[in-house]
Amino acid sequence: MRILLLGGTGEARELARLLTGEREHEIVSSLAGRVSEPIRPEGEVRIGGFGGVDGLREWLADHRIQLVVDATHPFAASITANAALATARLGLPMIRLSRPGWTAGPGDRWYRVPDLATAADTAAGAGDRILLTIGRQGVAAFAGHTRPWYLIRAIDPPTGALPPRHEILLARGPFTVAEESDLLARHRIEVVVTKDSGGAATAAKLTAARTAGLPVVVVDRPPVPLGIRVVTSVEEARGVLSARSGEDSGGGPTR
Ligand code: NAP
Repeated sequence: MRILLLGGTGEARELARLLTGEREHEIVSSLAGRVSEPIRPEGEVRIGGFGGVDGLREWLADHRIQLVVDATHPFAASITANAALATARLGLPMIRLSRPGWTAGPGDRWYRVPDLATAADTAAGAGDRILLTIGRQGVAAFAGHTRPWYLIRAIDPPTGALPPRHEILLARGPFTVAEESDLLARHRIEVVVTKDSGGAATAAKLTAARTAGLPVVVVDRPPVPLGIRVVTSVEEARGVLSARSGEDSGGGPTR
């Protein structure tokens, strides 16, 4: 079965690694090309946008793809929506692999908010020294807040408008709880802002914030398009694909 694996996450790399060794699957991983030095998955990789829904639909047809696994980040809503539309138009199956979100535990002081604009207002109301760990996109939502000071941590420099009082810290996780606790203390952070990315790789900041008694503003995930099957682990995705490749034979779609 020929599979397009939309990636940019650890789960996508892990699935690519597992499937590349399996005879019944041909995998092409796709990366957006946003970060300057992406970690490349094993096997065949293409890099760059497809050009919207129509571009993706053409690419799927040209490459005779039979199934799409969308293993992009839980907040990569545009590519997920595009993939849902393109696969629907071609009558192809699509699976969304999305790790479970985080849940607050005892001692956590979380504010769950629906979007970045609300996160910006909530954080500014909760403290004056704010750690932004939302990636490099979306920082502009905080630009209108002139009073707080922001430590903006991202892999690559943020894009768009920035709040006037800030420092940029370029770093790629995962970070340990000790490193995160040290960061919070060193910069006298009063509030942490994060997306509900889920997973262990970036969860140390939540533990560090809990230990320090700090509030965390957690931005909720965008919804998955209706009708798309969601799996929450690499193992589950692999199981679904194995079952499908048993059923599936023949060529890809026609446009
Ligand atoms: P997005 O807003 O959903 O996508 C914007 C556009 O980028 C899409 O319309 C598509 O361009 C292109 N694109 C996105 N993912 C792609 C992929 N895997 N392969 C080819 N093109 C892709 O996505 P985003 O939030 O900018 O994220 C971009 C990438 O970074 C994703 O692969 C995601 O897994 C990864 N990532 C995102 C976050 C986050 O917080 N959003 C965090 C970690 C990693 P066209 O319309 O031209 O096809």
